Amino acid sequence: RQKSLRDPLTGIYNRSYFFETVTREMENLKRTKDGCVCLMMMDIDRFKAFNDPYGHLCGDQAIKMVTGCIDRILRKSDIFARYGGEEFVLFLPATNLERGRTIAERIRMTVATRPSPAGDGKPITISIDLTSICGYEINPKMSGNKLLLSAIEEADTALYQAKENGRNRVWTRA
Ligand code: GH3
Ligand code: MG
Ligand code: MG
Repeated sequence: RQKSLRDPLTGIYNRSYFFETVTREMENLKRTKDGCVCLMMMDIDRFKAFNDPYGHLCGDQAIKMVTGCIDRILRKSDIFARYGGEEFVLFLPATNLERGRTIAERIRMTVATRPSPAGDGKPITISIDLTSICGYEINPKMSGNKLLLSAIEEADTALYQAKENGRNRVWTRA
């Protein structure tokens, strides 16, 4: 059962577990209208340029390094998953935007200050899109699944803004 929930390379949750669990969390938020949650979408910066000189095996080590150091600073109730390739999603229950911003910044810093497995002294960095969703602002006609899909779609688009604005940063939409 553990195997079917986890990404084989990194050991963090896989996307199907993420969708299943967070859809339920969104349903719950919609029903209770109580509190806020945060969603983060993360993407390793210029990863193609890392793989090219150092090779894909070293790239795999870099992905493991990134997910490992993030996973260590999270809480048990947070849901951290590999979305695909070098992209990750994180769901933080009962977290407002202010708190989410602090955590996102801590994650960004943690990754950027870890030694790279390439051993070249150049840090690996990630860009993060942070969204907060509060119970009172949810359209009650939308299903939990729709809510999550639209939040991910928006986060995906917004991540481009973080990239365009220089990478290695946390991007928050108003
Ligand atoms: P950006 O800063 O805009 O995100 O640039 P990027 O090069 O990271 O973006 P892009 O999406 O073009 O490239 C992602 C790269 O990630 C391409 C692919 O080779 C690499 N990648 C995806 N999954 C894996 C993996 O499992 N292992 C390794 N080694 N590389 C991977
Ligand atoms: Mg990418
Ligand atoms: Mg990338």
